Amino acid sequence: MSRKIKQIAIYGKGGIGKSTTTSNLSAALSDMGYRVMQFGCDPKADSTNTLRDGTYIPTVLDLLREKGSVDAHEAVFQGYNNIYCVEAGGPAPGVGCAGRGITTAVSLLKQQNIFDELELDYVIYDVLGDVVCGGFAVPIREGIAEHVFTVSSSDFMAIYAANNLFKGIQKYSNSGGALLGGVIANSVTQSIQKKIIDDFAERTGTKVIEYIPRSLTVTQSELAGKTTIEAQPDSEQANIYRSLAKQIADHAESLTPSPMDLAQLKIWAAEWSDQIMAAESGLIKDKSTGI
Ligand code: ADP
Ligand code: MG
Repeated sequence: MSRKIKQIAIYGKGGIGKSTTTSNLSAALSDMGYRVMQFGCDPKADSTNTLRDGTYIPTVLDLLREKGSVDAHEAVFQGYNNIYCVEAGGPAPGVGCAGRGITTAVSLLKQQNIFDELELDYVIYDVLGDVVCGGFAVPIREGIAEHVFTVSSSDFMAIYAANNLFKGIQKYSNSGGALLGGVIANSVTQSIQKKIIDDFAERTGTKVIEYIPRSLTVTQSELAGKTTIEAQPDSEQANIYRSLAKQIADHAESLTPSPMDLAQLKIWAAEWSDQIMAAESGLIKDKSTGI
């Protein structure tokens, strides 16, 4: 590729807030003057909805099925602030591997040099990360993305998914795979939630780059079919998304994480369980937990 395009993948458990966070990130980066493409890699194909007034776009795989061959321009749609929106799509329900669809969709656009033609500064892949199976690891494994960020709350299942993602990154880190940029903490409002996610990041050799609170502003914006950056640009929540965008724009070096194995993760979880229990029962007033 002739230009230096920053390629970022955002992973996380289903429903954790990847698309919401990614769309606000894209919107904020485009407001900063960058040329951005958001590439939805979730078979749900709703990644870019709030960049386009809540509407769905035809997916690369749908177009391929319909027409047999696709001109990349037919799969790229413009949204808020001229952000380029693409949805990889998925196989027909119950048929084939959703992950493989990502490879097909990304290859199609790359072969036609669309990233260079559009003079992009950022391509942001929004990838479902419950399971980092062969297919979903494609953006990591094949050097499609350079930096990976994970969206996680302090809920154990979200952390479990993040830890599995770290295993995937670690596995391909010696063969040119993408490395970990950090954790984007979403729906983190209470101080205990912040401490849990901070502790997980520290244990796995990474850091939290932004804390995004759960907010009704996001709900309102989504119901209006928009990002918070577009619907409520003067809100505190929009400022937080702008701060995230700045962190990502300034981010230069990603690292190989040190995921916990299952036994370590179980012990780690049990320790936090005990701490919360002790704090709730009033037995311990621990300064370090602050609860
Ligand atoms: P994912 O892409 O990870 O599956 P979404 O981005 O679609 O998840 O988010 C799932 C739901 O959670 C959406 O209805 C979204 O509006 C909501 N949501 C995500 N982040 C926040 C937040 N910080 N505050 C309030 N609602 C949020
Ligand atoms: Mg999504």
